[in-house]
This record gives sequence, structure tokens and C-alpha cells, in this order.
Amino acid sequence: MALIVQKFGGTSVGNTDKIKAVAERVLKSHKQGNRMVVVLSAMSGETDRLIRLAKDVQKIPDQRELDMIVSTGEQVTVALFAMAVKEAGYDAVSLLGDQVRILTSNLHTKARIKQIDSELISKHLDQGKVVVIAGFQGVTEAGDITTLGRGGSDTTAVALAAALKADACEIFTDVEGVYTTDPNVCKAARKINRITYDEMLELASLGAKVLDIRSVGLAKRYKVPVHVRSTFTENEGTWVVEEDKNMESMLVSGVTYSKNEARITINKVPDQPGVAAKIFLPISDAGIIVDMIIQNTRAGAMTDLTFTVLRSDYDRAMKLLREVAKEINAESVTGSEDIAKVSIVGVGMRNHSGIASTMFQILAKEGINILMISTSEIKVSCVIEEKYTELAVRALHDAFALDKDNVPSEEVI
Ligand code: ASP
Ligand code: MG
Repeated sequence: MALIVQKFGGTSVGNTDKIKAVAERVLKSHKQGNRMVVVLSAMSGETDRLIRLAKDVQKIPDQRELDMIVSTGEQVTVALFAMAVKEAGYDAVSLLGDQVRILTSNLHTKARIKQIDSELISKHLDQGKVVVIAGFQGVTEAGDITTLGRGGSDTTAVALAAALKADACEIFTDVEGVYTTDPNVCKAARKINRITYDEMLELASLGAKVLDIRSVGLAKRYKVPVHVRSTFTENEGTWVVEEDKNMESMLVSGVTYSKNEARITINKVPDQPGVAAKIFLPISDAGIIVDMIIQNTRAGAMTDLTFTVLRSDYDRAMKLLREVAKEINAESVTGSEDIAKVSIVGVGMRNHSGIASTMFQILAKEGINILMISTSEIKVSCVIEEKYTELAVRALHDAFALDKDNVPSEEVI
């Protein structure tokens, strides 16, 4: 007998028929003798609708009251789900975050889970009930309702799995799992069977949307095995797990891209101590996040400084930097929004050299110019012109043989 936490996203509980179907699916595991804890999102579109209602009344909604409103979406689905289980002849109980006592910080709309009481859940499980818990919400020490940020139900599920020492945490969604790349860009994209927490963190932060990134960090910390799979089929999905020796033989696990960034260069910056600090202080004060930074040194007393920011921050950043450039006597500020970042991710890179240079060769063969490069232990990213994004993704996916099941890349390149 296992304790299993199963989370279903908004599209899986989008109407009452879907809720009944999902209840049947949960009951199948329940009938096999497993202890089932179910975490639900609001019906798809509902959280957006609630936010719109709030903004209709108050342009910048009061954050405490906004949490009161948006947390109702999940209250509806958990109650309907418990009813569906009862209608099928079994017992269930729905619980909100404050009833369980999912204790959070008091940062409304972005609260962090501090502690979870497992007592009430265990009591209901002992009585043979399916326990249905509202995702995305918690309660502060003072008793105010909070939410965890958009997509937060994944985090609720993983946190519950950790607190209950569950045997597995299954995240049900509308795709089959985590893919080697975006299937919309590359038809050869393949579902990944097993991926490490670190790889998933890189993929999630680079734009893969299946799992909320905070839940992956939590899963890693508490070693919760997470199974991302489809609500609509019985197929095995992707297991997100700790690294083992086998996984290192795969040099590259996934190719990902992002078109959310823009590139800015400050030309001919005086090469003196303190200049970088003067440039980046106003940027960070404005809450603008900088990703890659490259500083070139050339003979003489001038240097160019190039970096990337989110495209949504581009205009603000350019305005601020034009002022800074004057102050520090830099020549000019130039930039481009037509860029994309293409990355390869894989734990196997840690112990193998030459992956980055292989990537550069592949891009060169396609005639794609690399504008910037950055690397980490398990990732290589290149900034290129946006119009080459799809071509680059397909070429890399193909050259690293990601369309083939579990073939170690060494044999192919
Ligand atoms: N309902 C919330 C949202 O739409 C939380 C979630 O679905 O995970 O963001
Ligand atoms: Mg989600």
C-alpha cells in the first residue's frame, strides 16, 4: 500500500464531466489499496476570470483581498471532486489550505510554504477517505488566506508529498510529460523517461512550462520523486528524480529556447574600477533582471559591455542606460530585441569536454552566427538572431540524436 499525491491541473478539471472522469481515475488507485491525496487547480480560465473581476473594481487590487478572491477557484473544484467520489460510492473529504493548515509567509500573491500539518490528512486517510486538497493556497500565522503565485498548485502537491513522506507525487497535465524540445518546433521531439532535478530546473527556467519551477526546487530539496504525466492516457510520463550513473551517459537531455530576451551593449566604456557597479546599480534598483553579461577587453582604455534583459524590460533599461552612459562617458548604448537564446541541457556535460564546441560547430554548419555564449555546469546557451531559432533547435536536436531513445550521444557524434 502506497501513499500517492496526485495533482490535476486546470485543463484536467475544466468542467464537471472532466472532474467525474478524473475522480474515476483516482478511485482506480484507491481501490487497489493506495492512500490517495488529490491536489486540484481551479477550472482552466477561472483564476484569470477572478483576477479580471478584481481589477474591474480596483485597478491595482489590494493583495490580501485578491488572495481571498483567487483562492475561491480551487474551493469549487475540490468540493465538486469530493462529491464525484461520493456519487461513485466511495468516501472523500475536501480541505482548504487553512483547514489542513498549510502555513505560509504573509507575502500575499507570492507566499512561500513554511510548514504543513499532516495530522488531519492522516486522520481522514486512516478512515479510508480520498483526501482532496485545494492547490495554490495557504494561510498565514495570523489566519489570512494567501496564494503561492500562478501555477502554484504544483508546489502545493510537492510540499504535501514531502510532508506526508509520500511514495510518489504525480503531476497530471494535458501533455505526455517533459519533451526533449518543444514538439511545436521539432516534430522529432520525444518524451523524456527520466530526468534529474537539476536538468528539470534548467529546462523549467529556460521556458519549458510543464512544471512550475518552484515545485522542482522543493522536490530536489526533499528528494520527492515527481512523475509528470497525461490525464488523458495511461502512458508513463516523465520521472523527475535524483541523478544516477545511467543518466550521465546521456550528454544532452534537452534543447530549449527563449524569445523573451533582448540584448543591450554599452559601447566604449572607460575601463576603470567601479564602472560595472555604476551601470548595474540603477538596473537592479529598477527591478530589472540581467541574465548573460559579457565584457570585452581590448587594447586601450575602453571596453564594450553587453548583456541581456527580459524583452518586457528593454525600453526601461535602454532609457536608464542612456543616462548612465552619459555619466560614465561611454560612447553609446545600442541594443536589439530580435534575438533568441538557444540552450542545450544535460548532466552528462559535467564529465565530458567538447559539448560546447560541438554545439558551436552545429550552429556554424547551419550558417547561424553566435552573438553571445554562456555556460554552466550542465548547460550551454547561445544567443542568436531570433529568425534562426527554429532552425537552430532542430539542428541541435538532430545532431545530439535526441530523437533516439537512450542512445548515449558519444556513439553518434
Ligand atoms: N489556479 C492557479 C493558477 O491558475 C494555480 C494553478 O493552477 O496551479 O495559476
Ligand atoms: Mg500548471
